[in-house]
Amino acid sequence: MSALEGEWVPRTKLGKLVAEGKIRSIDEILRLGVPIKEPEIVDTLLPGLKEEIIEVRRVQRQTDAGELTQLRIVVAVGDGMDYVGVGKGKGKEFRDALFDAVRDAKLNIVKVRKGCGSLECMCGRPHSIPARVIGKSGSVRVTLMPAPRGLGLVANEVAKVVLSLGGIKDIRVFSRGETRNRMNYAYAVHDALRRLLLMNLPTDWREVRVRSTEASHL
Ligand SMILES: [Zn+2]
Repeated sequence: MSALEGEWVPRTKLGKLVAEGKIRSIDEILRLGVPIKEPEIVDTLLPGLKEEIIEVRRVQRQTDAGELTQLRIVVAVGDGMDYVGVGKGKGKEFRDALFDAVRDAKLNIVKVRKGCGSLECMCGRPHSIPARVIGKSGSVRVTLMPAPRGLGLVANEVAKVVLSLGGIKDIRVFSRGETRNRMNYAYAVHDALRRLLLMNLPTDWREVRVRSTEASHL
């Protein structure tokens, strides 16, 4: 931060558009797939995100001056409804590592695609996810499965943190690999949510059909 603490001076074109109020919704950015390079963009468009610490670890690094001990923190940020990000940061002090991690998590925020893809439920409400999806990070591989209403989050603690920050109410998570690695687990769940957003689903076809009918009147 400069002398003007708290005042954001955007460094990117996207940042300028947000600061000038020309882009008012995070969805516009996520839809275009433009990388977010300034966390202030997310602070402006999604104020008041909640933060949850997933892991704090002491890591050692060899430098010319000897061994350097740092903290590595993994966090998830989200609004508890539609958006969630996972990030990591390092620092000598807890505060610096956390600041870094939150910043990183904001830069890779995703929109959580909701729906009811559960054949046991079929209520059509956005309490779960619309389809099965797989995510990976390191050796961890997770499968997110749609679940019926009222089931809750049938998942380990790390997945619960990420999924509940993203507003999912009911889901089943299966996993394999080095599942005790909390960092990779969190990133694998995040990866699954990112893939889910890119999936072409049967429910999208209906929208396309409606749009093409509308277009035929033109
Ligand atoms: Zn349902």
